Amino acid sequence: MGLANCSECGKVYVENAARVCPECYRRQEDDAEKVVEYLRDIDKATLEEIHQATGVKHKIILRLLRSGRIMGSAISYPCETCGTLIDEGRLCDKCSKNILDQIHTDDQHEKHEPQNSQRQRSRMYGKVLGDK
Ligand SMILES: [Zn+2]
Ligand SMILES: [Zn+2]
Repeated sequence: MGLANCSECGKVYVENAARVCPECYRRQEDDAEKVVEYLRDIDKATLEEIHQATGVKHKIILRLLRSGRIMGSAISYPCETCGTLIDEGRLCDKCSKNILDQIHTDDQHEKHEPQNSQRQRSRMYGKVLGDK
């Protein structure tokens, strides 16, 4: 067990599984309690609504969501790219599709590249030869 800086408050603490100092850990547990408690009486809330109602930081709520402490279906949070409210994954449908399109386009580009650059190279080569 070594010493580490708390990722929340920066204080030095004896390393643990939670990766934050005991003080912050306790606070995070309290926050988690509050959020879970709040969601118990409600079907669906946005990240902002939960934040307003409980005072818990967005970052902490998202962490709870990703760690499975709170159900994803109970909460809407903004897409990491455009801010549209979503309730699963990290990006909205549109942004995930954009990224897929991007990858797809890159793929095709990749496939055509060798042919193009080969053609270009021989053209350049021919020019160089012609110049001499
Ligand atoms: Zn701390
Ligand atoms: Zn988006």
